[in-house]
Amino acid sequence: MGLMIKKCIESIPEYVPGRTVEEVREKYGLGEVYKMASNENLYGTVPGLAEILSGYIKNIYYYPDGSSLGIRKKIGRTFGIPVENIIIGSGSDQIIEMICDSFIDPGDNVVITEPTFSIYEKAALKCGGFSLKVPLSGFRQDIRGLVGAVNKNTKIIFLTNPQNPTGTNITSEELNYVMDNVDSSVLIVIDEAYYEYCPEEARIDTSGFVMERDNLMILRTFSKIYGLAGLRIGYGIGPLEAVKALNRVRLPFNVNSIAQKAAEYVLDHGGHIAKIRERINSQKEIYYNVLDENNIEYIRSYTNFILIKTGKNSEAIVEELLKSGFIVRPGRNLGLPGYIRVTIATEEINSKFLKTFTEIYKNFGK
Ligand SMILES: *Cc1c(COP(=O)(O)O)cnc(C)c1O
Repeated sequence: MGLMIKKCIESIPEYVPGRTVEEVREKYGLGEVYKMASNENLYGTVPGLAEILSGYIKNIYYYPDGSSLGIRKKIGRTFGIPVENIIIGSGSDQIIEMICDSFIDPGDNVVITEPTFSIYEKAALKCGGFSLKVPLSGFRQDIRGLVGAVNKNTKIIFLTNPQNPTGTNITSEELNYVMDNVDSSVLIVIDEAYYEYCPEEARIDTSGFVMERDNLMILRTFSKIYGLAGLRIGYGIGPLEAVKALNRVRLPFNVNSIAQKAAEYVLDHGGHIAKIRERINSQKEIYYNVLDENNIEYIRSYTNFILIKTGKNSEAIVEELLKSGFIVRPGRNLGLPGYIRVTIATEEINSKFLKTFTEIYKNFGK
């Protein structure tokens, strides 16, 4: 007979995790291994955090603040948003999950780009919904295509700005087009996981828009530029009606106490975060220069990663990089065969990587 597992679970693709540093170190007998596959901030988080947290660790026998009020207040003050419009998740992944749990009935759909961040589809499938996929257009999200794909069963449209895995942005004209042309009953979600990496002039004041609209929600995370990926904490800002629904499905203690305190601390260090952005963005220019010099194609990025064209021998290039101690994400796993996605690391690691990669490319590229 077997167990009676929900039908829709079968449609969820099994998650293929990236290689771990330990795995690669052991397999190839390497000393140093650099993980440049998941877009973490390799400079690490804000200095001084460990000392601050050690003071809180002695209280971990208590449950955390179930409503994450301290960090919601801090986010509210930082962006001028009422705390009622803010929700905290164990990573923004969890907020995506709460959104689908709150909006998707069996047979409903979400409109997404193909390829994009995998969690939108996963969260919809789990609810018995499915995704309508609109292909990238010139490595950018096809805004008109996405709006055109919305039908009477569409509950959510997921935009990612800047996008993953391409690193490309959405302009304010494009966002206005979406807001003006999608029915106000459809929730527009803008996932801004890499928002803080955008140069100031390329940013859209989305938190301002949220307060003017009834159907716009933005997601941000402490996993990327803030360097707290291992603690799992992210936030959403949205209309009251949506946030209230999410709070009904949210588990009572969904965010651990250490993550809440850590997020409060890093949010207070905007100056440090701005320096990380500058360093990453100037390192990105070095990537562009070296890749140009070697006639290697890439996509200009608004994030801390870069998509590089590796051609038909991509698998071999990924393997050679592993042997040299660099873990990158094969584009094949992200829906972009013939490319690799590389996280911009520190100055020292980047220069080692570029030297090794251009050598390997000479032998295997094209
Ligand atoms: C990394 C990332 C996230 C953040 O995930 P967390 O659960 O907050 O760690 C969300 N969206 C995109 C597109 C990402 O790349």
